[in-house]
Amino acid sequence: MKKDDLLQVQIEDIGSDGQGIGKVDGMTLFVKDTIIGDLVEAKVMKMKKTYGFARLMKVLQPSPYRVTPKCPVAKQCGGCQIQEMDYAEQLAFKENKVKNNLMRIGGFAEKEIPMEPVVGMDDPWRYRNKAQFPIGRDKNGNIVAGFYAGRTHSIISNRNCYLGVEENREILDIVIAHMEQYDIDPYDEVTGKGLMRHVLIRYGFTTKEIMVCLVCNGAQIPYTEVLCETLSHVPGMTSISLNINREKTNVILGNKVKTLWGQSYIEDYIGNVKYQISPLSFFQVNPVQTEKLYSLALEYADLKGEETVWDLYCGIGTISLFLAQKAKQVYGVEIIPQAIDDARNNARINGITNAEFYVGKSEEILPQKYRDEGAFADVIVVDPPRKGCDEALLSTILQIAPKRVVYVSCDSATLARDLKFLCSQGYKLERCRAVDQFPMSVHVETVVLLSQQKPDDTIEIDLDLDELDATSAETKATYQEIKDYVLKEFGLKVSNLYISQIKRKCGIEVGENYNLPKTENPKVPQCPKEKEDAIKAALKYFAMI
Ligand code: SAH
Repeated sequence: MKKDDLLQVQIEDIGSDGQGIGKVDGMTLFVKDTIIGDLVEAKVMKMKKTYGFARLMKVLQPSPYRVTPKCPVAKQCGGCQIQEMDYAEQLAFKENKVKNNLMRIGGFAEKEIPMEPVVGMDDPWRYRNKAQFPIGRDKNGNIVAGFYAGRTHSIISNRNCYLGVEENREILDIVIAHMEQYDIDPYDEVTGKGLMRHVLIRYGFTTKEIMVCLVCNGAQIPYTEVLCETLSHVPGMTSISLNINREKTNVILGNKVKTLWGQSYIEDYIGNVKYQISPLSFFQVNPVQTEKLYSLALEYADLKGEETVWDLYCGIGTISLFLAQKAKQVYGVEIIPQAIDDARNNARINGITNAEFYVGKSEEILPQKYRDEGAFADVIVVDPPRKGCDEALLSTILQIAPKRVVYVSCDSATLARDLKFLCSQGYKLERCRAVDQFPMSVHVETVVLLSQQKPDDTIEIDLDLDELDATSAETKATYQEIKDYVLKEFGLKVSNLYISQIKRKCGIEVGENYNLPKTENPKVPQCPKEKEDAIKAALKYFAMI
């Protein structure tokens, strides 16, 4: 097989960038613009040892799942990778992708994966609350707004993206008309000249508030008041601002924002929690599915009101604030300081006082809080970026041993890797569900519930211990009596775990439940010497040793 060969390929899978994948003579071929089920003719463009890339020449037999894309520039634009696939099939593909990764990378058997039906959208269009349109010129010198063609920096003109809200078009029309009228140049990436770089639009799905942020290679837009006046008539307009970005960079936003008209932020809700969103804030882009995703995380966390919960990789605290409504105390950890500022502000405007936030790496903050302050958790929630959780964090989770771990993941491959680790150390995969946050793209979010399988030293086994104790001939005093004695005589509080450890040390038979877990768990806290002496004194007092 070599370059320029024409081949027939049966497409059987989709790659991570959305290209169709087929096999010919044992070689894997990636063919863009094809979908599972297509039989196509493709021309080999590039061959490696075991795989290659081919260009679609002709669809010989269309897949039963092939549909006509709604968007006329779907092929050129890099945004939608699988718009040509029927939505029901997109969902099936995503659910399968999660399941396959759990099997292939996580090592779970199919029957061990409690997959619940994927959560899709009723209407998978116009779901994004944020759009960033680059502004430039086309071949004929006309000002255009649109999207970068896949992997390039040439702008495909499109003011009506079907993933964004209808209002985007009207706003772009106004901005471009203003530029034309006052001879304002769009920014030119090559020369670094020109003013208007991007138009960022955010829309509050619940509040209907609109924010427009004009990203400029300069601090001033000619006839700003005229532009603001026109834009302010768009229903819902709440905030118009200027973002200054003079760098020659791919990064869209600069650090400086000037409010030109209205407020500096818009507000929106996820569930009944309100969020203030400014041009630089991170906010989930699909609020409808985010609510479903976080409600699921909350359901999996199964909070009764007395729990201490850690939310790691918390961003602006979206999940934390959701959980805080049902938990006793929530702690959030996030690496970006501004996101934590937003999280604290959002807690404040919602009157939520039981959520505390820390800036730093999850894999540093949690171990440190555990080591120095004995941090505890009934439930730990993680929502890491694509690379998944750091191993130092996973190890600390095992040490803290919360009853439940809820893992929200945007990459099921790293999810599978992390679950493999946690499930080899005493956790069990209880529930698992994919949520489609990004219809028309290959991305899929997953929520997983893990439960702790080991006995622990919490109150739940207190009763068991005493009941079992009563059957032991050698036992004279109950755990409570030993605790009371130690507190009275030594001023020390001791746990059932410590008492059982010392009893075992002294050769007193202890019930089944206190035997160490089957897999030796080195992380069980060990009774300190001072408490050991006090417990021994109590055992002597009660004539048990
Ligand atoms: N749960 C959040 C978003 C999670 S996205 C929400 O709903 O808003 C992942 C977050 O992890 C990002 O905000 C990113 O800044 C943060 N992050 C990345 N690496 C991190 C680390 N090592 N420790 C803590 N946070 C990290």
